[in-house]
Amino acid sequence: MSILAINGGKKVRTTLFPAYKIIDKEEKEIVSEVLESGILSKFLGCWDEDFYGGPQIRALEEEWASYFDVKHAIAVNSATSALYCAMGAAGVGPGDEVIVSPYTMSASATAPLVYNAIPIFADIEEDYYCISAESIKNRITDRTKAIIVVDIFGLPYDAERINAIAKEHNLIVIEDTAQAPFAKYQGKFAGTLGDIGIYSLNYHKHIHCGEGGIIVTDNDDLAERMRLIRNHAEAVVEGMGFHTLVNMVGFNYRMTEIEAAITRMQLKKLAPLVEERQRLVKYLNSKLQGIPCLELPNERIESEHVYYVHPIKYKQEVAGISRSTFINAVKAELMPTELRESEGVLISEGYVKPLYLQPLYQKLTAYGDKGCPFNCNYYNKPIVYKEGLCPVAEKMHYHELFTHELIRPPMTYKDLDDVANAFIKVWENRRELHE
Ligand SMILES: *Cc1c(COP(=O)(O)O)cnc(C)c1O
Repeated sequence: MSILAINGGKKVRTTLFPAYKIIDKEEKEIVSEVLESGILSKFLGCWDEDFYGGPQIRALEEEWASYFDVKHAIAVNSATSALYCAMGAAGVGPGDEVIVSPYTMSASATAPLVYNAIPIFADIEEDYYCISAESIKNRITDRTKAIIVVDIFGLPYDAERINAIAKEHNLIVIEDTAQAPFAKYQGKFAGTLGDIGIYSLNYHKHIHCGEGGIIVTDNDDLAERMRLIRNHAEAVVEGMGFHTLVNMVGFNYRMTEIEAAITRMQLKKLAPLVEERQRLVKYLNSKLQGIPCLELPNERIESEHVYYVHPIKYKQEVAGISRSTFINAVKAELMPTELRESEGVLISEGYVKPLYLQPLYQKLTAYGDKGCPFNCNYYNKPIVYKEGLCPVAEKMHYHELFTHELIRPPMTYKDLDDVANAFIKVWENRRELHE
């Protein structure tokens, strides 16, 4: 008779896991106040006091800047918009290259494309999955203008080494901290380690407001350019007396007063939510530790990981069965999470396909049907986005890594026992799975 659920045995867990539901009374109250005030957004896209937005936006920006100990915080409608603002402010344009990780959410790499620049993919670190300093060094050319580093899965990038490389080559560092708010590196907050940092407030992130993003920087000039790009720069520069016109084609990336108000309340919860998540990861690690085919995540020295997801390496040579066979068996033992039932059990093999393997890069088709910006005359260099470009990212994605989200509050130790027991059960009964 079979023991494993995938073969018809009894599941370890038969009820849903609890939802990550972090919107409470405080958010409802402040949203009601905004609704009652009648001011849902106060931005004006011309040179006016209200060019900088209404009371909730300004309060949020002040509170965020003070919380993260940074000079400027700029609220926008998504982290994607934040990345686009950062590229524009950095002066990226046709003919330029921007180095980026291939193992990240797709917007980190489309940011250069929006400004007609070329994303150049550098490989990731085998131990931490962030972009590797070594690989960056090999990708720098006289065209390189900026590096987009990603604090992937919640762990800060190798700031000391990468910032030194950037300084040596006069490159701007844009830190994509969408997955790592409250993570720390040498005592400083992730997001404040490069020249510009960006955070996401979309519904899946540690704290959220529906859709939203925040940009931070200590640089006054970059901050002003990003505020212009957020809000119709082309219509504002003249009145403002801003004389640099490069990349001053504006967008509407404005956040509403409602999202700003929600974010202000969410910010107060960031520390306790992250600390609880870290406690849960620690507990789960202690339970998974004895399973020989799993390698638990490393934490970079002098860093604090905030675990957007919990990344684990799977050692096929130890288990003797493939990653997908093993993970499918574990998933069969468990249950989905409330509010996200349709996604199934929240464990995935790998994370996202290395970005250069997406159709956009394989077919070199972005804007229009003529190959722009890849065949731009100002660039005029062959572009190589082929399999094998970033071998570590490919190995992690297709063979070794899996990530899961079953570490979010209000998971309890008892819930985590179920998660751990599913892994232990599959490990102990793996002979039932021999392919
Ligand atoms: C979520 C995410 C983004 C984009 O965030 P949005 O607010 O949805 O635009 C960018 N980069 C990374 C690494 C992310 O995880």
